[in-house]
Amino acid sequence: QRLNNNFQFVQVERGEPSKKGLLSRTREFVEIYEPFEQKDASSQAHRCLDCGNPYCEWKCPVHNYIPNWLKLLSDGNILEAAELSHMTNTLPEVCGRVCPQDRLCEGACTLNQDFGAVTIGSAEKFITDTAFAMGWRPDMSNVKWTDKRVAIIGAGPAGLGCADILVRNGVKPVVFDRYPEIGGLLTFGIPEFKLEKSVMQNRRRVFEDMGVEFRLNTEVGKDVEMTALLQEFDAVFLGMGTYTYMKGGFPGENLPGVYDALPFLIANVNRNMGWEKDSSDFISVAGKRVVVLGGGDTAMDCNRTSIRQGAEAVVCAYRRDEANMPGSRREVQNAKEEGVEFLFNRQPIEIVGNDRVEGIKVVTTELGEPDEKGRRRPVPVAGSEEILPADVVLIAFGFQPSPAPWLSDIDVELNSWQGVIAPEEQPYKFQTSNPKVFAGGDMVRGSDLVVTAIWEGRQAGEGILDYLEI
Ligand code: FAD
Ligand code: SF4
Repeated sequence: QRLNNNFQFVQVERGEPSKKGLLSRTREFVEIYEPFEQKDASSQAHRCLDCGNPYCEWKCPVHNYIPNWLKLLSDGNILEAAELSHMTNTLPEVCGRVCPQDRLCEGACTLNQDFGAVTIGSAEKFITDTAFAMGWRPDMSNVKWTDKRVAIIGAGPAGLGCADILVRNGVKPVVFDRYPEIGGLLTFGIPEFKLEKSVMQNRRRVFEDMGVEFRLNTEVGKDVEMTALLQEFDAVFLGMGTYTYMKGGFPGENLPGVYDALPFLIANVNRNMGWEKDSSDFISVAGKRVVVLGGGDTAMDCNRTSIRQGAEAVVCAYRRDEANMPGSRREVQNAKEEGVEFLFNRQPIEIVGNDRVEGIKVVTTELGEPDEKGRRRPVPVAGSEEILPADVVLIAFGFQPSPAPWLSDIDVELNSWQGVIAPEEQPYKFQTSNPKVFAGGDMVRGSDLVVTAIWEGRQAGEGILDYLEI
């Protein structure tokens, strides 16, 4: 119930939209959260204290005006809230669904310690979903079109962030992607139970109405040459992600039955969406004992996809403890509820089997001194080896940069770990060593988050506007 006082945060507990029943969650590839009811969204938003110095805004990578749009939501001004939300974020309805809020905005909320953080992510999703349902579209009536055109390579969150800034400033973005739909990993990576594909399909129509042109099924370097794009366009933005799978470097990784995470996830999406080109791409784990190696978002997605495919058992082995897992706590909890068994402090040392995988040898670990990122290193305990039986092993150790070979032809420099060098600072934000070429997202910072890719794409968009003197 909506209370007209300043102590809403005490009288109304933190509340999330309810989750669907476990029967549906363990079988269906649909989002697990029911939509917020208007009254609940409004009442939750009203819990915000409107702190003078809102830590949530600082911790949010795109620095959303969180208390301001929460106030608009609690007052029922959905369309104004959507307009404001889009001033800082290109894909608020996506971030509301997939950001690890417990580590970002909600983790920094003043109420987090004692009363439960404001449900910022669900409110952000609610605002844009509801505004779209009401027919809202970004207001482009004041845009003064220029004659400038920018090629964007990659329709992932970085490319879309860049396109958003450019088109709102009258520069025509033409976005190239090798896939048949926009979204990058949002479409071909993150499963439907976190983000249904209709969300990005709707966004494509919104972007097209704004004036963004998409050239899909077009791979730069194969279907169109980069040198031609450099000649045709006033600037180019690279947002091509990172796609080299990290390996464990232990024996048995090439045995049949061992798969990298992303081909498994992409093939599953392609089958669900009817986008499958070759049915042999699909990796079925139905009726099998699956071991997933890793502790990040990709590992959680493999766990939960395996459950939905009907695996006999799904075990997730991670080399640190639960507190040191890199992924979102919410998704670990969701995986547990859906029946995934977690084995913490287990490091794989060998995949065993004759003609195909039969099990995985792991060693127990203890946490030692912090590494260069401040996370404590797992140290193997002598004599603690055990074999976990498995028919399928899914490897989710993360990604390394996969720079296109043609980058050197256009004088784009890479750093020691093969990421594109595109500094955040002036003169032009996210400009590469080729002045006409800008870059952002995973291919610059290494694999990270949707919201950081959006932020870098938007910053690069501003850098391009400055470079084009607009
Ligand atoms: P991408 O999303 O990878 O997009 C790059 C695009 O470039 C792709 O569409 C690709 O087809 C295109 N491309 C590449 N080369 C070419 C070329 N030569 N020509 C044409 N097109 C090209 N982050 C979160 O915040 N929350 C999550 O829950 C989460 N879950 C994840 C789950 C999985 C399984 C994975 C793999 C990642 C997850 N992430 C999550 C991370 C997040 O998806 C990425 O950090 C983000 O998508 C990076 O955005 P990007 O635009 O840099 O690259
Ligand atoms: Fe929180 Fe992500 Fe939204 Fe920022 S973009 S407010 S971090 S959910």
